[in-house]
Amino acid sequence: MFNRTLSRCCLLLAGLLLATTPALAQTRAPDAAAGITTPKQFFGFNIGDDYQQVNYAKAVEYWQKLATETDRMKLVDIGKTEMGKTEWMVIISAPENMQQLDHYREISARLALAKDLDEAAAHKLAAEGKAVVWIDGGLHSEETVGFQQLVQTIYEMVSRNDPETMRLLHDVIGLYVPVNPDGVELVSNWYNRIATPDKRTMAPGLPTVYNKYIGHDDNRDSYMSNMRETINMNRVLFQEWFPQILYNHHQTGPAGTVIFMPPFRDPFNYNFDPLVPLNIEAVGTAMHMRLVARGMGGSVQRTGANYSTWWDGGVRTTAYFHNITGLLTEIIGEPNPIQIPLIPAKQLPNGDWPLPIAPQTWHYSQSIAYELQNNRAVLDYASRNREEMLYNIYSMGRNQIKRGSEDSWTITPNRIAALEAADAKLKAAKGEKADVDENPFRPRGADPSLYASVLHDRAYRDPRGYIIPSDQPDFATATKFINVLIKNGIEIQRATSAFTVAGKHYPAGSYVVMSAQAARPFILDMFEPQNYPNDLAYPGGPPVPPYDVAGWTVALQMGVDFVRELDGFSGPFQKLPFGELQPMPTYVVTGVANPAGYVISHEVNNAFLVINRLIKAGAAVYWMQTPQSVGGKDLGMGTIYVPAGAKVLPILTAAAKDLGVAAHGVASAPAGAAMKLKPIRIGLYDEYGGSMPSGWTRWLLEQYEFPFQLVFAPELDAGKLRDKFDVLLFVDSGIGDTGRRRRPRPTPTAAELATVPAEWRARMGSMSAEKTVPALKAFVQAGGTLYTIGAGTSLAEAVGLPITSALTEIGADGKSQPLPQTKFYIPGSLLRVTLNNRDPIAYGMGDSVVVDFDHDPVFRTLPNRTLDPTVSGWFHGDQTLVSGWANGQAYLNGNAAIVSGRIGQGMVYAVGPEITFRGQPHGSFKLLFNGLYAGTATSGSPK
Ligand SMILES: [Zn+2]
Repeated sequence: MFNRTLSRCCLLLAGLLLATTPALAQTRAPDAAAGITTPKQFFGFNIGDDYQQVNYAKAVEYWQKLATETDRMKLVDIGKTEMGKTEWMVIISAPENMQQLDHYREISARLALAKDLDEAAAHKLAAEGKAVVWIDGGLHSEETVGFQQLVQTIYEMVSRNDPETMRLLHDVIGLYVPVNPDGVELVSNWYNRIATPDKRTMAPGLPTVYNKYIGHDDNRDSYMSNMRETINMNRVLFQEWFPQILYNHHQTGPAGTVIFMPPFRDPFNYNFDPLVPLNIEAVGTAMHMRLVARGMGGSVQRTGANYSTWWDGGVRTTAYFHNITGLLTEIIGEPNPIQIPLIPAKQLPNGDWPLPIAPQTWHYSQSIAYELQNNRAVLDYASRNREEMLYNIYSMGRNQIKRGSEDSWTITPNRIAALEAADAKLKAAKGEKADVDENPFRPRGADPSLYASVLHDRAYRDPRGYIIPSDQPDFATATKFINVLIKNGIEIQRATSAFTVAGKHYPAGSYVVMSAQAARPFILDMFEPQNYPNDLAYPGGPPVPPYDVAGWTVALQMGVDFVRELDGFSGPFQKLPFGELQPMPTYVVTGVANPAGYVISHEVNNAFLVINRLIKAGAAVYWMQTPQSVGGKDLGMGTIYVPAGAKVLPILTAAAKDLGVAAHGVASAPAGAAMKLKPIRIGLYDEYGGSMPSGWTRWLLEQYEFPFQLVFAPELDAGKLRDKFDVLLFVDSGIGDTGRRRRPRPTPTAAELATVPAEWRARMGSMSAEKTVPALKAFVQAGGTLYTIGAGTSLAEAVGLPITSALTEIGADGKSQPLPQTKFYIPGSLLRVTLNNRDPIAYGMGDSVVVDFDHDPVFRTLPNRTLDPTVSGWFHGDQTLVSGWANGQAYLNGNAAIVSGRIGQGMVYAVGPEITFRGQPHGSFKLLFNGLYAGTATSGSPK
């Protein structure tokens, strides 16, 4: 249940063990070439020596030196990080290949895109080309083996001259990528803050997330591409190099083992090309074989961990939707020696862990040695199967283009259920038993006619393409969605004039995404609902948690209007330059000359950028509380009105030009009631070590230029909050059992505390019912707004909003208890919430919204003598699942998702669903933006 905020792929070992055992002898690179500087010569220690970690800055210096000593490598600047560092990719291959990198890159790209390329030409290119392999390190920077192994791998690939290395260099172009430079720098410097090596420790942990905003969620950003590092990676992967294999390094291995490696368990994703899971199988098996053949035990696969291939969105997994063989490993190892425990179950060999390992003290250098073998296993596979891998990525791309050019069907669990239901109905009509497997030795099977009539029902064909009309209310956000696709290497077309498809008219400027592309699985995955199988441990048993989330359809999360076209179509469409991001739609300020003021639609998310700029400039901003229209166009409730002023027009003119926000001058102020916004001082809760949901929200507030500062538990507990803040915002952090999603960190010892610089100590401590809640109550009483999301809603309840969990039942003892998972289970999925959009929190929104829901609170309001809470969003009906997996969703029916209430002079909001989840659900951002201003706004009509 704590499945998101806890590190799923990398539970760090609790506390680092100090040992005085000397480091094992470093694995030496055999046949190292003279004249190549070794890591020891450069850093003063071997990579993998106990208590030693290289940071990013020093590693880059080393690589720059190596580049002057060898003609096998080159450094490529792939862009800036969020903290402004240069992200350097190291390319390594044989010198003769390095001379023709562009040529080989071109071959790799042409085969992967599979456009205008017949089989004979593809075979010729595959024979000529070089395999391209991506190997990275440092993504989850606290998993320190990842970056250190990358440094050692680069050294060995440029210095070794043994026959295998020479063959790998000849056949393969390796892309060696530090995927989170900021994080590696933060973590290594933190560890190295203690001068005496054998006294070094990470405890009590890095004070912040291990990059600018989001820490571990940097591997949750791949399809969305919000972060600069993700944008850099995706450009190299899906627009430039198109590697056939991608190897993403992680940590830590399951207890009693050394390393988890592919292949992975099911479910796989129904959008994949079928060669994808088979490729993972083949390369993963080769990796295990290389270790086992060398007597290196402790590698596990498949059921050895919870990794599946269902989810899009991680570095490894997004690759699948581009026909790339994505690998991920999770190895043990710390710079401080650790112990491998004796886990009885892991000592009995089976198909998933054929060679168990003995319990022992384990040194960093051993982890490095394993990873070096794994990298070589992958490079070796690519070398031996070079031509086949190049040809296969072409055949997958060609297959996808073909499927997108004709009628095709993606079979999902829902379609199988429909087939079974149709068959049961047919058999019932004939008076037969329904069971198709009545006799397991000679199953009868379903009626064969249903293969065509149900599984290939024309109503369920995959779309040939999607149209995104340019006249939708928030075309700026739709354009941001188009840019998500572009960052992921999807080809986009745009209508140069108005057109008609299937009798429906569309304006010029509408975007078109055709399915007939090599990365068609990615396209379907961004537009179509995910249909997760009802994955129970046994019939009637508990659910098997998905790896990460079960549903994420980005077009739906972003609230984009789009039309699915099931038949082939064409029009006045122009292909946009590949990889070039689209600007926001451009408008001009319209309306009367010398207007009294301007009206702006509340429907456009970017209108909040405009509001924030106007308020910063001291302009008055109103939200009209009666429906307004301009030129016959209904703008609905909450229309934004800004009286004319010297600073207003330049801001509105720039917004119309650059932000996709139109403004219209009116001769007189609109009539009717209105809210007048006040400038707001926002405090965003964060904690020592950094909360990822807070980090995502910090990023989001910056994108929309909301002024804010971070606030930590000690400052909250000190009280007098109203003097400093108008709004306090808690995203998925609260108190009590429901409020705490993350495993509490161990209390630091005095010695550990002494190693923390004073500036970070003020961040330590956590919220409590005893100290924090009274301070928040006083803040609200004095007119402050308390805005809580997800697990943070425990604070709204604690300060007196009369809500309680709706997901309960009366147990055998007559007491209320949470619904068991066998009855109710909704892991990360998209649900539909019905809205009262006449309430300010939902201004500018439709009558429902798709929200991210991940084991989130759902409310019942309670009778209260002094406070009548407002329910602005609720679950209506017993089918509110939009994408993903919802077992027992009928329990949601009629219960509240969004509740607010005035307490004293202030306002309290409780929003159960995660409306800012990973910076993705643009469709629900307005619920937050509205609430930030609504609580402190005053009523008054504009003049
Ligand atoms: Zn990890």
